[in-house]
Amino acid sequence: MQNKEKTINKKKVAKLIRQLLIELGENPDREGLIGTPVRMADMYEEIFAGYRMDAELDVTFSEDADMIIARDIQFYSMCEHHMLPFYGKIHVAYIPAGKVFGVSKLVRLVEKHSRRLQIQERLTKQIADELMRMGVKGALVLAEGEHLCMKMRGVRNNSSIMTVAYRGIMEQKDIREHILAIIQNPKAEFKSV
Ligand SMILES: [Zn+2]
Repeated sequence: MQNKEKTINKKKVAKLIRQLLIELGENPDREGLIGTPVRMADMYEEIFAGYRMDAELDVTFSEDADMIIARDIQFYSMCEHHMLPFYGKIHVAYIPAGKVFGVSKLVRLVEKHSRRLQIQERLTKQIADELMRMGVKGALVLAEGEHLCMKMRGVRNNSSIMTVAYRGIMEQKDIREHILAIIQNPKAEFKSV
C-alpha cells in the first residue's frame, strides 16, 4: 500500500505522541518532554520515508556486465510487530540484461523498502522482486539484521538474523552458491562467471 501524500501529518502525529506520553504515566509538559512529540513526528517522517519513495531504478547505465554485487548496504528499518528498530547490512547481487543500475539506485531501493514498518523476510523478498521487475536475469538479496525487539524484550536473544531471497537465474543452486561464497568472502572467491 503506497501513501501518495508528500509528508505525514506531523501535527496529528505529535498530538498522538503527546497522548501516548500521558498514557505511559509521563508529564508531557515537563522540560525534557515538551518538544518530544514534535521531534518524534519529524523523526517518523524521516524513518518512514520509504512509503513515499520511488526507487528510480529506471535510471540506468547502458554498459553490461556478467554480474554485479553491491555488498554491505547499510539499512535501518522498524519491526512491524513492536515498532522497534532492526538494522544491519544488505548485499544485493544481480545478473543484468543489458543495463546496470548505479550503486546509489540500489541504496535507494533498499531505503524504499526498509524505511517503513517491515519484517526482515519481506524486506529481502521485496528488494529481489523489484530488481526482477526491472528486467534483470537473476537477483539474490542477503540481509543480516540485528533486532532490538529481540534484544530489549522477550527472550533477549542476542543473535542476528540472516535472510536470503533469490530469483530468476539465481534459482540454480550452483550459481547461487557461487554468489553467496563471493558475498561472504569476496577476496578468496572472486572470479568471473
Ligand atoms: Zn519485533
